[in-house]
Amino acid sequence: MANKIVKKDQIKNLLNKVAQSSQLIAPIKSDSITTFRPVSSAEAVVLDYQNGVIPPKDFFFPQSEKMFTYNINDPTWDIREVEGVPERVLFGARPCDVKSILLLDKVFDAEFRDNYYLDKRDKTTIVAMSCNDCRHTCFCGAFGISPDTAEGADLLFTDLGDKYLVEVLTEKGEKLVNSAKEFFADDDGSGAGAKAKATEMAKAKQMQISLEGVKEKLDNMWEHPIWDNESLRCIGCGTCTYVCPTCHCFDIVDYNDQSAEGYRYRCWDSCQFSNFTRAAGGHQPRPSKKERIRQRFLHKLRYFVDRYGDFGCVGCGRCLEKCPVNLDIAQIITKVKEVG
Ligand code: SF4
Ligand code: SF4
Repeated sequence: MANKIVKKDQIKNLLNKVAQSSQLIAPIKSDSITTFRPVSSAEAVVLDYQNGVIPPKDFFFPQSEKMFTYNINDPTWDIREVEGVPERVLFGARPCDVKSILLLDKVFDAEFRDNYYLDKRDKTTIVAMSCNDCRHTCFCGAFGISPDTAEGADLLFTDLGDKYLVEVLTEKGEKLVNSAKEFFADDDGSGAGAKAKATEMAKAKQMQISLEGVKEKLDNMWEHPIWDNESLRCIGCGTCTYVCPTCHCFDIVDYNDQSAEGYRYRCWDSCQFSNFTRAAGGHQPRPSKKERIRQRFLHKLRYFVDRYGDFGCVGCGRCLEKCPVNLDIAQIITKVKEVG
């Protein structure tokens, strides 16, 4: 389908129409924080925002998720599956966060297929928004991502001032356009040029970092002193993993209130916690912060490449912005490159 245009004064009407037939998940401002939330109307949706602290990962891989309920007094245990999600539209995801969903696909839609994740993935239409500006901590370009492309999205919107350019990338995206045709006009051919101009600041402003040779160096840095040095100031809070759109470790826990009824849920875990790898019997393969910090960076920049052919980071910059002691993956990359 050819590129479309939506007038800016019509965008909230379009979103309201979308919200009538699907769950609409969109960026809102809560206090001073931009975050994605299900909304029943477009009234609270923010359209002019830098990427938020919390990525939309939660809508595919929730922070805490009930898996099933049971009753141990029942001879069959009466295991009841939880209901899936409704059809949804995720509006306004930035290109780095869309790429992070493709990376999660590699983990959850692989040899072992995770139905909890796949239900949400299949029922979500992703409408991405190009970045016209970026945070000082952004470096998506290092991973081949651009502020004006969104591989993995169904539609890509770009803010052109008084209108949005809309690129239709998949059949799901085409279906959404066809369901609200009255809001979409044909692009007269000027959209692509206007888009390049609108997004040039984001491209120029982000940190310019090259990953050339980094994976190869890390292949031989298991015992390098960098891990001791970098881990000294880590306080093990796990913030870096909780704000990361690609981190996907979880724990599974049973809960019952000392009654026959209970449920099993899973919740995010973090490789930065000392209990994360503690085994039955007390064995601890990552006994100190050195091993845990090494694991985090090697997982992002080495193991993920070995296993899936791509880096496990999208350069969103959230971890370096939010780490209380400024432990910075962009600086680590630079330091690794300097290793002789
Ligand atoms: S490691 Fe840091 S910069 Fe990379 S995707 Fe995760 S939060 Fe973003
Ligand atoms: S956010 Fe910083 S201090 Fe906290 S666990 Fe991560 S690296 Fe360590």
